[in-house]
Parts: sequence; C-alpha cells; structure tokens
Amino acid sequence: MSSRFELIAFDADDTLWHNEIVFQSTHKRFVSLLEKYHEPEWILERLFATEIQNLKHFGYGIKGFTLSMIETAVELTEGRVSGKEIQYIVEMGRDMLAHPVELLEGAKEVVEEIAGSHPIMLLTKGDLLDQETKLARSGLGDLFSDIEIVSEKNVDTYAAVLERQKVHPEKFLMVGNSIKSDIIPVLEAGGEAVYIPYKTTWAHEQVPEKEVKQHQFTRLGSIQELPPWLGG
Ligand SMILES: [Mg+2]
Repeated sequence: MSSRFELIAFDADDTLWHNEIVFQSTHKRFVSLLEKYHEPEWILERLFATEIQNLKHFGYGIKGFTLSMIETAVELTEGRVSGKEIQYIVEMGRDMLAHPVELLEGAKEVVEEIAGSHPIMLLTKGDLLDQETKLARSGLGDLFSDIEIVSEKNVDTYAAVLERQKVHPEKFLMVGNSIKSDIIPVLEAGGEAVYIPYKTTWAHEQVPEKEVKQHQFTRLGSIQELPPWLGG
C-alpha cells in the first residue's frame, strides 16, 4: 500500500480502543452513590460542569476525573459525604485505570497493515502513565514509530508535532474520533484528517454542526475502511 502521506498519526481513545464506555459505566456507579440526594440528570450535569472547570487544573484523564467526582460529591451532599464514600469514589477511579483495554473491531489488523507501508505514530491526550500502560496492554506498542502523549490537541500541538517529526503538513494524516481534537486543529495546521466517529462522543468533544460544515475532511464508517481509502 502506498499513499501520499509520509506520516500517519492515530488517536487512541475510541479510535483504537474503547474508552468512553468506561466513563459511562462509572457515571452509573456515581449516580447510584448519590441518588439518595439528587436526580440522576442533576448529578451528571454537576459532575460534567466540575470536570470542565477542572480541566485547566488537572488536565484530561482518569485522575482528574476522580478528583472531580469527589468534588461533586462534596458539593451535592453539602459536605455530608462520608470518608467511606470518598474511598468508594477513589476505588471507582482505580477500577477505571485497571479496566481491560478492549480494541475496536479490526483495529489491530488495520494498524498492522498500515504500519507495514507507512511510518505511524500514536498521538493521544490524557494521563501519561495511564496512556502508556494502556498502550502496553493493547499489544500495539511496537507498531508505532513514535508515541506522543500531549495535554491538549490544538493547532499549536499539531504544528509542534509536525516540526518535531520533520513532516510537511500536506504529508501528514491524522485519524481520530473527535472532530474537535483530531480533525479541525489538524486541518488548521495544514494537515489532512480522517474522522471515524465512535458510537458515543463525550459532550466536551462535541462541535456544533454549523462549525463542522465549514471544514473539509473524510468521514469513514469504521477503521476497517481506512486501508482501502489509503489505496491499499
Ligand atoms: Mg479519541
């Protein structure tokens, strides 16, 4: 397989392996912990607001999310949440970190195939330790010529990655499930991007349709469509 790209970067969470469903199952546990105090919708609304507020302090990932669960529990119980319940929340965070890495269908085969003909890199945001151990557990680690775990994926991030990788923007392709993080900033940096939506998108990563329409990029139904699209 050959293509016009000199470097193909893959997002990890919900592009190569399932991630959002781990958060959603934790949401359910968090709601059941606090449902004697509030309605589920309000609990999740407050948790989301706290998470977004805390991103600038704690960054993306499970550790920051766990602190946000604790903070939300304190707020929603007006300080009545017990030490035992806080312990339970910490355990929820630990369970998320220990959750098995489940690859998306076909992800391994596709990454192997593309790695055979192109340099590929992993470009993901989140906790360093968490992403490193997930990559190790995924069994895909050896296929990537480079791995970058960044705190945010914006146009400056991609420009810096292109500079470090010594790749001309037009020769760079990003593959990911978030229009906000994997597509728009790549296009703004002069690269190309393939959007492969996951079955669910975290509210923070959602982009209004009007804004999406202003950008030109390829949308594929699944990662298995990537090799044929590349010309394999
Ligand atoms: Mg993702």
